[in-house]
Amino acid sequence: MTFSKTTTELSETLQDIPPGFLNTMGYVDRSEVNGPGCRAVVWVQGCLRACPGCFNPASWSFEPNQLITIDDLVERILSEPRNEGVTFSGGEPFWQASALAEVARRVKEQGLNVMSFSGFTLEQLQSKSAPPESQALLAQLDILVDGPYVESLAINDPSSPVSSKNQRVRVFNPALKERITWASDQLEVHVLKDGSRIFTGYQGQIGVFE
Ligand code: SF4
Repeated sequence: MTFSKTTTELSETLQDIPPGFLNTMGYVDRSEVNGPGCRAVVWVQGCLRACPGCFNPASWSFEPNQLITIDDLVERILSEPRNEGVTFSGGEPFWQASALAEVARRVKEQGLNVMSFSGFTLEQLQSKSAPPESQALLAQLDILVDGPYVESLAINDPSSPVSSKNQRVRVFNPALKERITWASDQLEVHVLKDGSRIFTGYQGQIGVFE
């Protein structure tokens, strides 16, 4: 599968997402394999990178999938009192940085911490060529796992928090320095109320089965 959308086409597609909405491909209320402790996970829709070996190729398209308002997403995250935070995964979270920054700001006001994966490196996200509003999202993050998945550098280690050797865990919140304890090759199965199942955890994978 290849993905060849140009930056111009991407901008047009992103404009199809109404203001105040996020385009997502999945959500779980409680996960223990996508960051410190128990947390909600939001998988956003859309990624330009097409990394060989990507575990979520269904997340590449930017076409609208599961649209959710910022208000509804914040309410959903806060409705699970056992969660200490939320993780943004993908797809590429930074193509929807503005909306995710707002989600992050509002859940942090309620005491949660926020983590994000990104196929961009931190240096790219801090540069002028970063997706719009990347700085706003970076400013809200407690942890960033940055860098694309590189198949030739894959790690299959039960103690590794990253999936390939080039990726870095950037801990911006010192209180979480000793909490980098999740493993990238563990697997969770979530059975939803409608009977569908989500598999998550293994190297950032999400699988949705009806
Ligand atoms: S591994 Fe991540 S960055 Fe690479 S194509 Fe898949 S979703 Fe995008």
